[in-house]
Amino acid sequence: MTDSFNRQIEYVRIAVTDRCNLRCFYCMPAEGIIYEPKKELLTYEEITRILKVLGGIGFKKVRFTGGEPFLRKDFMKLLERTSEIDAFNAIHITSNGTLLQRHIKRLKELGITKINLSIDSLNAERFHKITRRNDFEKVMKTFHLLIENGFAIKLNAVIMKGINTQDIIELAELSKNFNVDVRFIEEMPFNGGYKENIEMYSAKDIYADLNAHYPILNKIASKHGDTADLISVPGYKGNIGVIAAFSRTFCNTCNRLRISAKGEIKSCLYDDGVFNIRDFVRSGVSDKELANKFAELIRLKPKDGFEAEKMRKSPESALQSMSSIGG
Ligand code: SAM
Ligand code: SF4
Repeated sequence: MTDSFNRQIEYVRIAVTDRCNLRCFYCMPAEGIIYEPKKELLTYEEITRILKVLGGIGFKKVRFTGGEPFLRKDFMKLLERTSEIDAFNAIHITSNGTLLQRHIKRLKELGITKINLSIDSLNAERFHKITRRNDFEKVMKTFHLLIENGFAIKLNAVIMKGINTQDIIELAELSKNFNVDVRFIEEMPFNGGYKENIEMYSAKDIYADLNAHYPILNKIASKHGDTADLISVPGYKGNIGVIAAFSRTFCNTCNRLRISAKGEIKSCLYDDGVFNIRDFVRSGVSDKELANKFAELIRLKPKDGFEAEKMRKSPESALQSMSSIGG
């Protein structure tokens, strides 16, 4: 399925919940956000139906995110059902790593071995300050268990001026001995209204730090839909990536659609939700009508994140939390 800018759209990211057990300050206020009532969330039946329809129009990859996906009851059941859908050759998960340890064996059996783990600091105190919770040891244990079990890990770290820029090299050094992609992400303004102004530490700043530390960095050719510019240190097992999420330099190869926990479609991270697919599904439409609706939404996908931002209807979008968008 191509959009009107000739981009192949084949990747859907679904937030299975807006709830979270951490309180990362770049994502939500300390008191949390007002969660959607459970009945407002897409049910697992609705999600698997949507995935089957998307599979029918050429989607191949799904990422489950949140909130914290492992916080939703019976999340493993959703993964089991999804693994039975032939069209999806890649089922990925983004998690904060606090609750997934006991599921590692089953994940492996299901062939779900690509996990994005969010770890913004390797310093327990800074980790606590950022996430407002004391789960550093638990998350690091998850990281090592996943590595030992052969999972492909992308480690996501949001880099913030005056908060964790000192972690950049230490995090990048994880790619020395482990086959992990360490990805540094620019902070985006989706923190549930916790703070208004972001003091940007940009992709350029992050590159400058990496270049100052490493005499040689090899550039790695990007694949369709990659949001990270990938580099590696010669001799290191893993890679390093920088995601210009705020500068938005990768929109021309965007291959994705997002669905929030309550079924709001975001054809761009920066739009304010273009259609509620939950209500459409609940109105009794056929699979064909559902497929046609997705095709229409894909055709209307904006050129880039700046266009999407301009088209927003609601000033409240600026107060959204990434926990309900899914990252
Ligand atoms: N709870 C899971 C986690 O933290 O990995 C999944 C959901 S979280 C919203 C998905 C990703 O979005 C995480 O890697 C997180 O660091 C990132 N994120 C959240 N708020 C962000 C913001 N304001 N700017 C940039 N990235 C953000
Ligand atoms: Fe929770 Fe993830 Fe948001 Fe942190 S970034 S508060 S772990 S949803």
